[in-house]
Amino acid sequence: MKDLLSIVIPCLNEQEALPIYYKATIPILKTIDMNYELIFVDDGSTDNTPDIIKDFAKKDNQVKYVIFSRNFGKEAALYAGLSKAKGKYVAVMDVDLQDPPEMLIEMLKGIKVEGYDCVATRRVTRKGEPKIRSWFARKFYKIINRWTQVEIVDGARDYRLMTRPMVDAILSMKEYNRFSKGIFSFVGFKTKWLEYENIQRSAGTTKWNFKKLCLYAIEGIVSFTLAPLYAIIKLGVALGTLDILAALILLIVSLSISKNLFLDYVIIILVMVLLTSILLTCLGIMSVYQAKMYSEIKNRPIYMTKETNVDSE
Ligand code: UDP
Ligand code: MG
Repeated sequence: MKDLLSIVIPCLNEQEALPIYYKATIPILKTIDMNYELIFVDDGSTDNTPDIIKDFAKKDNQVKYVIFSRNFGKEAALYAGLSKAKGKYVAVMDVDLQDPPEMLIEMLKGIKVEGYDCVATRRVTRKGEPKIRSWFARKFYKIINRWTQVEIVDGARDYRLMTRPMVDAILSMKEYNRFSKGIFSFVGFKTKWLEYENIQRSAGTTKWNFKKLCLYAIEGIVSFTLAPLYAIIKLGVALGTLDILAALILLIVSLSISKNLFLDYVIIILVMVLLTSILLTCLGIMSVYQAKMYSEIKNRPIYMTKETNVDSE
């Protein structure tokens, strides 16, 4: 029996990109001497995405699908796809052909011939992407690599091929707040990186906006480090020390030159506002952690299925 290759494809409102993806990927899969299955995960699309996927499945029994009851996010879609995948090798890729399917051949070589557990990809350019988005992305990678234990390569994509043990390791991480790039790195395993230039989307539009990207960045940082909490403690200690020093200096100076050196009301108000803003920031950061703990404790399912053609074991 030939080995099975599973490909997990998260889709949100991708009616234009889906047929192009299918047409481009199937011929490549046919050249590989393996059995394959395509697992499309519909992440609560409001267009014809679910119908197109079901149509593929009708004509091609290598097509599997999971249709969510609403939008749960790409991270949940990846988890659902990985948990349904039965392959010895499992790839995750976007449907918009920004993850070139022909790279699968090189990825398979990396695992089967060179002995890696995972072959991942990174973009070396961000051509065609808004400048401001690239700037924020670079800052995000800097912060996350400095502050967290997990290492995330700049420009790393989710597009990768993994062996079964690595997929099982990822599935064993059942956290509700999922940040896949961090999880991929956290589980370890020997990973080879392939580099490529950014490619424009085949059709449709990006599913990310500035707000979604900011939330994604916060998710990444909060999921993998306590550094902001330690920063609060350092800030508090530093502020307290400065405060005591200033009070001592004020006391000595006013005693020695016996003048009334009390500060103006305006300065007092400014200082109070500054301290309040620091307090608020700290409270904000702490509540993010608390909120994350709360959602983990509730132990809610990561996604909910409306329809699927994959048997559940
Ligand atoms: N996606 C998803 N759920 C979401 C957002 C995106 O399943 O909430 C899918 C989307 O259909 C695509 C992939 O995730 O296959 C990557 O999204 P996109 O191409 O919009 O991201 P970009 O390439 O712009 O970072
Ligand atoms: Mg894309």
